[in-house]
Amino acid sequence: MRLVFLGPPGAGKGTQSKIISNVLNIPHLSTGEILRDMSENNDYIGKELKNIMSKGMLVSDDMITSVVKKRILMQDCNKGFILDGFPRTLPQANSLESIMSEENLKISSVILVDVPEDELLKRITGRLLCNKCSKIYNKYSNPFPENGCGRKDCSKENIMVRSDDEEEAFKQVRLKKYYNETFPLIDYYKSKNLLKKFDGSGSAEKISKKIIDFINVIY
Ligand code: AMP
Repeated sequence: MRLVFLGPPGAGKGTQSKIISNVLNIPHLSTGEILRDMSENNDYIGKELKNIMSKGMLVSDDMITSVVKKRILMQDCNKGFILDGFPRTLPQANSLESIMSEENLKISSVILVDVPEDELLKRITGRLLCNKCSKIYNKYSNPFPENGCGRKDCSKENIMVRSDDEEEAFKQVRLKKYYNETFPLIDYYKSKNLLKKFDGSGSAEKISKKIIDFINVIY
């Protein structure tokens, strides 16, 4: 089974793709994780990657494509793999298609974990912090419980708006990049009859159950 996971940042695509890779026992290939590892090297490429990633920008299509090609041709991917974070642009999707046809392989399905843009913005901008136990809440999706968080004797007085403008701006740049560069892949994979959309708004368990049910049907 060869799956591609698509979805905006913050929709839970990473969580879901990891769960499904465990269920199917096939490697979870997160290009973000691979590039973060590469950026730890103290060489020219490592430094360049750190610079690009710290701004929420995308690395070049050529570079990421050669990294992914090398990875999916490794032996542990023989029975399949899950791509999380690739392709992210139309040229990357075309390259993936070329790699697949060169190797006589096919993508089984493209799983879109979707959350509407206004909901994602709420997730980014609604964050609250308990200044006593440091737990993160969200005023829209995960409010502070009426009877306290139960960890310490935290109360509503301890809850403050988390003002991390830099992080918020970073997340908004990534969201914009998604809508400009990655969003067109939805139509691309729809036209190939490969796209299956899941609502990413509920609990992680409920969403993974739906994805597993779907996979059981196509398996
Ligand atoms: P992620 O963890 O998937 O959000 O990726 C973290 C960062 O890695 C992104 O903001 C990009 O800078 C870079 N990255 C990951 N995957 C790709 C890709 N397919 N194309 C270009 N850049 C990528």
